[in-house]
Amino acid sequence: METFITSKGSRVIRILSGRSNCYIVKSGSVNLLVDTGDGSAYNKLIKGLTSLNCFTVDYIVLTHSHFDHCANTSQLAKRYGCKIILSKNESRMVSAGITPIPKGTLFATKILSSLGRKYENSFASYPPFTPDIEVEECLDLSIQGINIKIIHTPGHSAGSLSILVDKEIAMVGDTMFGIFPGSILPPFADDLQLLYKSWKKLLDSGCSSFLPGHGKKIDRKLLNSQIKKQNYVKN
Ligand SMILES: [Zn+2]
Repeated sequence: METFITSKGSRVIRILSGRSNCYIVKSGSVNLLVDTGDGSAYNKLIKGLTSLNCFTVDYIVLTHSHFDHCANTSQLAKRYGCKIILSKNESRMVSAGITPIPKGTLFATKILSSLGRKYENSFASYPPFTPDIEVEECLDLSIQGINIKIIHTPGHSAGSLSILVDKEIAMVGDTMFGIFPGSILPPFADDLQLLYKSWKKLLDSGCSSFLPGHGKKIDRKLLNSQIKKQNYVKN
C-alpha cells in the first residue's frame, strides 16, 4: 500500500485503490479513515485495515457523499463504533441514502450524467447513515500530535471536503482527479466556478501533495499550472 509521510512523521496510507481511493491517517493508536469506497469494497477494506493492525477506527471522514465514496460507512461505523464526519450540506442526502449524480464537465460525461440521473436510484443509492459531526467551513481535528484540518472545498459537490494533514498532505476527494495525464479536472462537477475556487484554496493551504479520490497523487506544480492555464479563478 502506498504510504505518504509528512516531515512531522504523520502517516497517510492508501488503503484502497482501484475504483475509488480510501486512505487511513495513523498516529499512535488513533486511526482516521478517509472515505469508505463503493459497496463491493467492504471486505477489501477490512482486510486492508487488519493488515495494518488497525483493529479500531476512531473517525470516518467523508470527502463527499457520492455512492463510490461512502457506501460502506453505515456498516463500518457499526463495526468500529466510530464517529462519522461529513459536510453539513450533504447530511440530508446520507440520511436518505442517495446523493444525486453531478453534471458532466466533458462532452462524454455530460451525456453519461444525464443518462445516469434517470437510473440513479438503482446504482447511486447506499445504506443510509447519520453523521456525528457536521462540517461547515472548517473543522480543526488535531489529535495526538497530528495537525488535521478539514476544510470545505465545494464544486464537485456542494459539500465536498478536503482533509489536510500537517499542512503538507491534502486528501481532496473528487475536487481533483488523478486519472488523466496533465489534467486534474474531475469528469463530473455540480459547479465548475466553485471547483476552481476550491483549487485555489487548496493551493493557498500550502500543501505539497494532493491525494485524489481516484488515481494518483497530484503535486503543487500540476495544480498551479492547471489554475494558471485556464485562468480559472478571477478574483
Ligand atoms: Zn464524487
